[in-house]
Amino acid sequence: MKKASILLLLLIGCTEVVDPEICEFEFETMGTVAGGIAYSYPDAGKLVEATFDSVNTTLSSWTDDSELGALNLASADQTIIISSWLNTCLTVSEEIHRNSGGAFDPTAGPLMRLWGFYRRQGHLPSETEIDSCLALLGGYLHNQNSVTKTHAETKFDFGGIAKGFAVDRAVANLKAEGVKNGLIDLGGNIYFLGSPKGRDFWSVGIKDPLNKNQIVARVEISNKAVATSGAYERFVEIDGVRYGHIMNPATGKPATGLLSATVIADSGIIADGLSTALFVLGPEKAIELLKNHYPDVEAILIVQDKEKARISVTPGLRGNIELLEEYRDRYLISSFSR
Ligand code: ADP
Ligand code: MG
Repeated sequence: MKKASILLLLLIGCTEVVDPEICEFEFETMGTVAGGIAYSYPDAGKLVEATFDSVNTTLSSWTDDSELGALNLASADQTIIISSWLNTCLTVSEEIHRNSGGAFDPTAGPLMRLWGFYRRQGHLPSETEIDSCLALLGGYLHNQNSVTKTHAETKFDFGGIAKGFAVDRAVANLKAEGVKNGLIDLGGNIYFLGSPKGRDFWSVGIKDPLNKNQIVARVEISNKAVATSGAYERFVEIDGVRYGHIMNPATGKPATGLLSATVIADSGIIADGLSTALFVLGPEKAIELLKNHYPDVEAILIVQDKEKARISVTPGLRGNIELLEEYRDRYLISSFSR
């Protein structure tokens, strides 16, 4: 029997998976690592991988060959018919864009390119360069099943939402095969289906943003998606300074207000999109966004304070989140009211 991967051990907090009914899988896709476990369905890994591959073929911002890549290449005023998957991601992106006052922006592509994220080689841009990218934000019209860009150089980047969408598709496919318990993790976008055998909930580890191999706290979850946005996973280094890959459209620069933002929601697409938006907004505005628009969503915001890092959680997590013992002198946990 194969041992559970480090990833899964961190996640679910058990020592070894020994149940012969469990199918465990791990593979690379969409520029990250995917993994998961499913009970009583040996082909789970194949099905999940095929699902992620087809989402990538449609929604990748990293290649001209995807449907999104073709849209990015389109000239201004060319009307492009879009697939239902692209339409879903764009529609949810626009909802989060509106609710977050523009913090989440599916057209952050030119800023990502400018700062060097696509070629993985950082570039510190001038204010003029930043301004010319900011002028391209939102340069498109979206009509039911078509998109018309108003600037040829407006480029969509679904890196903040497509992984959550892909997880939702994979969960739907597993459910259609009768799977009732399992988890799917696509680069930190995770859906927890049902519960592990003999338990009512999955015990989910929240990573320490200052040391990503450590778990700082645990929450119990069932039938929910969890996504975390942080600057610690992907960044470029310029003159010895690390710049994270989440852009603040208000400044054209990488967002810096939080160490990490974790969202627990019913769907992967909302968890993914919203965690990116909260990360951009920083602690105060993130709390306002949750209060005003997402009363049923739970969140964990980790903020650097002078002496101790602060973990601010939604009231629904009070009594559910447990700070690990070794962190009790370094982190302060508090919940805000709705
Ligand atoms: P990860 O990709 O590590 O899961 P996120 O879900 O937070 O992290 O997404 C970050 C990605 O989202 C970036 O790599 C980029 O592709 C895209 N992005 C960057 N800035 C924004 C933004 N302000 N709004 C929406 N998407 C963004
Ligand atoms: Mg995201």
